[in-house]
Amino acid sequence: MSDLPNRNKFERKLTSSIAEYMGTINGELRSKKIRTSDAYWKTKSKDFASVIETPVRDIVTQSLKKHGADLKTKSGKALRDRLIADIVDDQTKSFHIFQLAQSRKIKDSLKGKKQTTDLIAMKADVIAGVAKSELLGRTIVTKANTMAAEGLADELNLKSPLDKWMTRPGYCSICSGVRKQPRKLWNKLGWRFENGPPAHPYCNCYIIYKNL
Ligand SMILES: [Zn+2]
Repeated sequence: MSDLPNRNKFERKLTSSIAEYMGTINGELRSKKIRTSDAYWKTKSKDFASVIETPVRDIVTQSLKKHGADLKTKSGKALRDRLIADIVDDQTKSFHIFQLAQSRKIKDSLKGKKQTTDLIAMKADVIAGVAKSELLGRTIVTKANTMAAEGLADELNLKSPLDKWMTRPGYCSICSGVRKQPRKLWNKLGWRFENGPPAHPYCNCYIIYKNL
């Protein structure tokens, strides 16, 4: 039974990459004084995918190694590559959907009002804020760790109904409901957190495997 790798190190790397990218978008929105469009966010989402690819690769690789995967084998490499692609794809979709929703909400709130550059720039801050990027980064870290561990457990057929959902100090009320609960409860199809942590943005939970 092994614990997860040092999250802080990976969190810092992924969150700083995302924060830096969000900063670029922020600067772009300010300097060009552009209004965000669906096409704009489509391009940004593509770039977002390439920004997170390498840090996600590192997290998945470390997490798989920590759980005993042999990444020298063909199947180990295939598993790693599949997980990286899944996580990057999944998170890029979330990023895109969120940004579109935000920019539409902003457009609606500006309707009928005099639009000053300052107001648009201020709203851009809300979209591209560091808080949001940190949230995204932390959620991806948790998701990447869970997907790496679950992917390996699947591959080796080592999942157990007794695997446990574990919280870290400072866990929230959402996770207190699943704290130390076995997989047979939270992994039930159709249950709210059937895929394991994260249960919410900033979720810092992980799974302890009985057989790993
Ligand atoms: Zn949690």
